[in-house]
Amino acid sequence: MYHVSDVLKHGFCPKLFWYIRQEGSRSPLKFIQMTQSLSDILLKKVGLTEVFESYRSIDPKDVFEGLKTKKAVLNGRFEHHNLRVKIPLVHLTQEGLDVYFTTLSVNARVEDQRYLSMHIYVLESLGFPIHKIRVMSFNPDYVRESELDIDACFVFRDQFIRQNGKTAGNITEVLLSRKTDFGSELNMMDEVMGNEALKMTIDQCPALNRCEYFEVCFQKQFDLSQNSVFFLTQSANKRAFINEGLLKLDQLPLDRLEGTALQFAQIMADRNGGQFADKLVLKHWLNGLNQPLIFMDFEWDTHGIPPYHGMKPMDVLCFQYSLHILRDQDLAHYEFLESGDCRERFIQSLIHNTPKEGSIIAYNAFGAEAIRLNELGEQFPQYKAELDQMIERMVDLAVLFTEGIVYLSAMKGSFTLKNIIQVINPELNYAQLSIGHGLEAVKHYRTLQNNDDEDDIKDALLKYCKMDTLAMVEILGYLKSIV
Ligand code: SF4
Repeated sequence: MYHVSDVLKHGFCPKLFWYIRQEGSRSPLKFIQMTQSLSDILLKKVGLTEVFESYRSIDPKDVFEGLKTKKAVLNGRFEHHNLRVKIPLVHLTQEGLDVYFTTLSVNARVEDQRYLSMHIYVLESLGFPIHKIRVMSFNPDYVRESELDIDACFVFRDQFIRQNGKTAGNITEVLLSRKTDFGSELNMMDEVMGNEALKMTIDQCPALNRCEYFEVCFQKQFDLSQNSVFFLTQSANKRAFINEGLLKLDQLPLDRLEGTALQFAQIMADRNGGQFADKLVLKHWLNGLNQPLIFMDFEWDTHGIPPYHGMKPMDVLCFQYSLHILRDQDLAHYEFLESGDCRERFIQSLIHNTPKEGSIIAYNAFGAEAIRLNELGEQFPQYKAELDQMIERMVDLAVLFTEGIVYLSAMKGSFTLKNIIQVINPELNYAQLSIGHGLEAVKHYRTLQNNDDEDDIKDALLKYCKMDTLAMVEILGYLKSIV
C-alpha cells in the first residue's frame, strides 16, 4: 500500500523512496503547532452537520457505504491501484462530488498541484464525477482579539497562487483538465520496491550532498573528504566537474568557477592547509563591534491558530532566550524560559537584561532574532522603541562564514552554527545535550505547555539555548585569534 508521500518521494528519487520505505515512516514533528483539528474546523465552515467519520484503518468499502448513506465523509480513505489517500471532506451533491482539502498555508499553492492531483486521480478512478474542488487555508488578514473567531481565521480558496502572489488558475479547472495517470508511476514503484540492488548514478541523483543518504549511496564511489568537489558552493558547473573526473577542489579550473567570494574562500582554505580568512575584512568587522558584546539567541514555536490577543495565523511565539554578555574577560549569562502567553514578560526580561550599549551578536540575526523583535514590537507597541533600538545594534555572525570571509575546509560546505562550533571546538558538542537541535527544543516546549512542572525538560531547554550563545562566544574568540 502506498501513500501520497511515497509517490512524491519516488518522483524525486526512486532510491530515496526505497530507503525510506525500508526504514519505515518516521513521524516528523509538525513544524506548525495546531491546537484544533483542521477537519473539524472545515466541517463547521462548510456547514454540514450529518457526516460519516472515517478513520485510519478503515476498509474503503465502509467509506463508500458511509458516503451513500450520509452523503458526506470526513477524513475519508479511498484506494485505487494500491494507492491510499485521505481526503479531509467530500460531499455528494446533485452535480457530483464536492471535494475539500486543507492546507497549513495562507494560500492554495500551485506547488501542491501534484499532491492534490493524486487524490483526484483516485476519486475519478473509482468512478466519482467531481463537481468542485476547494482548499481551506489560513486567512492572513485575521488578527485575533481576546476571543478567537475560528471561522474568520480560515478562508476558502478557489484559485492556485504562485510564489510571486499571482494566480495560476482555478483549482477545479486545473485539476480536472490537467489529469495525470499515476498508474504507470505506481507500477514503477512496485519494481523499485522489489529491486534491492537498485543503484543511482551521480547524474541521476537530484540532491547530491544535500540528501541524508548521500554517503550511503556514493561513499564507495567517491572520496568525500573535506576537499571534495561535492562541498563546493554556488557552482553551476559542479556536475560537469564531477563527470569530468575533477573531484578535488585543487583540480578545478579557476576560469570555470563563478568566482564568488565563498568559492574563493573554499579553494584558498584547501590550498592553505584547511583555513582561509580575509584578515583585513575580519579585522574591520571585529573593530566595528562595540563593548560590551551581547550574544543573543531565541527559541520559538509557530502557531497555526493564533493562541493569544494580537497574533495572526502562523505567528510565532518566543518562549525562551539566552544572553551571554562579555565585558573584557568577564562573561555573564542571563536566560528566560516560560510557557503560556509569556510574550510581554519575555520582552520585559530581555530589555531588563540587555545592556543599553554594545553590539548584539546573533547567528543569522536578520533572518531570525531581528524578525522576532520586530514582530514583538508590533504586538506590544509600548516596547517598540526599545526593541527597534536592539535591532539597530544587531550584528550577524553568520555572514562572516556565508560570505566567504572565513572558511574552514572541515565545515564541508555547511554553515550552521552547530557545524561551525564542532569544527572550531569539538568539545562544545550538542550531542552531549539531551536536546540537540531546534525542532527537538520545540517538541519539549510543547510538552512543557501541558505540564509546567517538568523540571528536567526546563533544564534541558535552558542548557540547549545556552549552548547556542556560548558557541557564538567561542567562535568570536576563535576569530580574534586569527587576526
Ligand atoms: S543521495 Fe541522491 S541518489 Fe541517493 S537517495 Fe539521496 S537523492 Fe537519491
